[in-house]
Amino acid sequence: MAELLDCLIVGAGPGGLVAATYLARYRRRIAVVDAGASRARWIPTSHNCPGFPLGVSGTTLLARLREQAETHGVVVTHGRIDSLEREADAFVARDAAGGEWRAATVLLATGIVDRLPTVEGGPEVLAAAIESGTLRLCAVCDGYEARDSRIAVLGPAEEAGRHADFLRTFSCTVDAIDSDQPYRLSCDDAGCRVESGVERDGSPGTAREYDTLYPVLGGDSQSQLATALGAAVDEEGALRTDAHQQTSVDGLYAVGDVVSALNQIAVAVGHAAIAATAVHNRLPPNPRVGRGINSSG
Ligand SMILES: Cc1cc2nc3c(=O)[nH]c(=O)nc-3n(C[C@H](O)[C@H](O)[C@H](O)COP(=O)(O)OP(=O)(O)OC[C@H]3O[C@@H](n4cnc5c(N)ncnc54)[C@H](O)[C@@H]3O)c2cc1C
Repeated sequence: MAELLDCLIVGAGPGGLVAATYLARYRRRIAVVDAGASRARWIPTSHNCPGFPLGVSGTTLLARLREQAETHGVVVTHGRIDSLEREADAFVARDAAGGEWRAATVLLATGIVDRLPTVEGGPEVLAAAIESGTLRLCAVCDGYEARDSRIAVLGPAEEAGRHADFLRTFSCTVDAIDSDQPYRLSCDDAGCRVESGVERDGSPGTAREYDTLYPVLGGDSQSQLATALGAAVDEEGALRTDAHQQTSVDGLYAVGDVVSALNQIAVAVGHAAIAATAVHNRLPPNPRVGRGINSSG
């Protein structure tokens, strides 16, 4: 039987990695399992991440957070937890490859998966458009960088309208485009072209050019491991937590985008500090024995 961990952390985006650093510094026995698809990997340059006045790319930030955790002995195992069950004294998590982890507490930092629009040319063109900033996924994150550009918001009419109003803080040219009507979308480094009113037989509609396009098609909360245990979620499937980031399941904590809150790095990192400290404080004490290397005299 696998050893009993103090905490299993599922997910190694900003939330999971910061929680890992805190728990390692509390000298707790932890494991981190990560499927390797942090939303942060899409960030070309973030300009609102605290402590990086000149901006930081998502991949650099993830590498630095991982290095900080590893400095404290954290090992991140690549894999996907497929099931999480509650047994008498522990949570038991399993992956598809037969791996098993037993832990007194579990901290989910599993994020969301963005629903993305179909772009002519396929996923590679879409990825290039995100990299160049002509297609942006988070108005809170980078509306400021899109200021004074011609912006389109693509989504279900009501949602697109709300986001378009929000983006008016940054530009006087913001159109909302209803994604429930047929459309054709093409993007390159210079901008995006949206053809709306396209007929279902393929006849052309009205084409408009934009410098920046924000799809607001929503995302899928990666909360299934928690909901299988009965954890409460909001209307979008994001986990509800208390002030210590505990879900409605005792011993099961959640941080970052998977939680019903603002999806931001600063929020994920704040959640992580709170949750890791709550986990440490609920576990049996682990007092240092003997004379530590930092003792004076
Ligand atoms: C294009 C873009 C730009 C952005 N720009 C900014 C910005 O400028 N500023 C800002 O604050 N935020 C920005 N964000 C948002 C930011 O990326 C997220 O808020 C942040 O990554 C959330 O961190 P997280 O740890 O909660 O989740 P994530 O970073 O998404 O990490 C979740 C991890 O859990 C793993 N996982 C999921 N399920 C399992 C499982 N069952 N088993 C094992 N592993 C699992 C995933 O593979 C992933 O690695 C941006 C997002 C996008 C897409």
